[in-house]
Amino acid sequence: MSAALSDTVSQGIERLLPAYARADLTLVRGDGCRVWDADGGEYLDFGGGIAVVSLGHCHPAPLAAAAAQLDRLWHVSNLYRTEPAEELASLLSDRFGGAQAFFCNSGAEAIEAALKYARKATGRTGVVALEGGFHGRTLGALSATGQPAKRAPFDPLLAGVRFVPPNDVDALRAAVDDETGLILLEPILGEGGVIPLEPAFVEAAAELEPLLCLDEVQTGAGRTGTFFTFEQLGVRPDLLALAKGLANGLPIGALLVADEAAGAFAPGDHGSTFGGNPVSCAAASAVVETVDGALLANVRERGAQLVAGVESLPGVIAVRGRGLLVGAVIAGDASSVVEAARTEGLLVLSAGDDVVRFAPPLTVTAAEVDEALTATKRIFC
Ligand code: PLP
Repeated sequence: MSAALSDTVSQGIERLLPAYARADLTLVRGDGCRVWDADGGEYLDFGGGIAVVSLGHCHPAPLAAAAAQLDRLWHVSNLYRTEPAEELASLLSDRFGGAQAFFCNSGAEAIEAALKYARKATGRTGVVALEGGFHGRTLGALSATGQPAKRAPFDPLLAGVRFVPPNDVDALRAAVDDETGLILLEPILGEGGVIPLEPAFVEAAAELEPLLCLDEVQTGAGRTGTFFTFEQLGVRPDLLALAKGLANGLPIGALLVADEAAGAFAPGDHGSTFGGNPVSCAAASAVVETVDGALLANVRERGAQLVAGVESLPGVIAVRGRGLLVGAVIAGDASSVVEAARTEGLLVLSAGDDVVRFAPPLTVTAAEVDEALTATKRIFC
C-alpha cells in the first residue's frame, strides 16, 4: 500500500465487504488509455474498467457535458421530465431504428427490467438463456446467468429458466415452449469467454415466438465496431439491454424496447429513483454523439491490429471477438497472465479460466495497440 495514501484510505480496505478479488493497486488518475497509481506508476489500460471507459479516461466530450449538467441540475426524480433523459432516449431510438428507453443504473438492472417487461408483455414466465452466459448479480439476472458456480450459493433462484449451449439452434428450438416469454442472449458472451454468436443462431432466436432480448451491456455503444452488435447479425431484437460503455464510466443502464414490442409497461409497473439521472444521461448523450463513423472505423481497424498481433503470440490457441472486445484462448491460467501484465504496466482482463480479454477504449491508437502487444509479448515469451 502506498505511503502517499492517508491512513483513513489505507485502512478502508478492511471496511469494504470482500466481494471482489482486488489487486493491491490503487488507481488515482486516468487520461485517455492510461491510468496512474498512487505512487505515480503508469499503466496502459486495455481493460477499460471492464469495457466501460469507451472513449478513454476523462474524455473531453462526456466530461464537459457532465460538468455543465452538474452546474445546472443533479436530480429531480422521475416525477418530472428532464431534458437529458429525453435527449438520450431519442438519440438511442435513432441508433436503434425506433425504440423507447427505460433508464436505470447498471447492466443487471437493465436485465431486471427486461425480465419484467417480457412477463408483462407475454404473460409468460419462462426464459431461455445460454450456458456460460452472464447477465448480472441481482437475483433475476443471476437466475438467467448460465454459470452454475455463480448461481449455486444463492439457490433457489427464479424458476422457469432453461439454458442451451451457444450456437446450438436445435437445442434452442427444443427449449422454447408455451411457457417461454423471453429468449435472452449476449451477442458475444463476454464474461463467459468472449464467444461470438453465429448470425444463424440469433436469426433462429428472432424467428421464435418469445420476445428476443439481446444483452448488449458489454458489446453495445460501439465496442464491436458498430453502435449495436446486432447490426452485424442482420437481426433487430425486441428488447436490448445497454450499460457499461454508455456513459464512459458514470453509472447508467438502459432497456430499449423496439417500437414493434411497445406498450407493455404502464405507470407504476417499474421504476428506479436514480434511473435517468441527468448527469449520467448528459454524459451518455455526449458518448452516443462521439461514437460516429470515424470512431467505429477505428474500433474495427485497431481490433484487427490487436487480433493479428495476439494471434502471433506463442501459447495462444485461438483469438475470438469483434472490434475491441478480443479474447485470447491460452493454454495456461488467464489470471496469472493478467497479474504478469500488470507488472509490465498493462491492464488486461480474464474471461473465464483460460481466456485473456482485451477491451481498451474505442479511441485507442495504433501506437498504443503496438505498445500493449510489446508488453504482452514479454509475458508470453
Ligand atoms: N450483462 C453483461 C453482458 C455483462 O457483461 C454484465 C457485467 O459484466 C452485466 C450484464 C451486469 O452489469 P452490471 O455489473 O452493470 O450490473
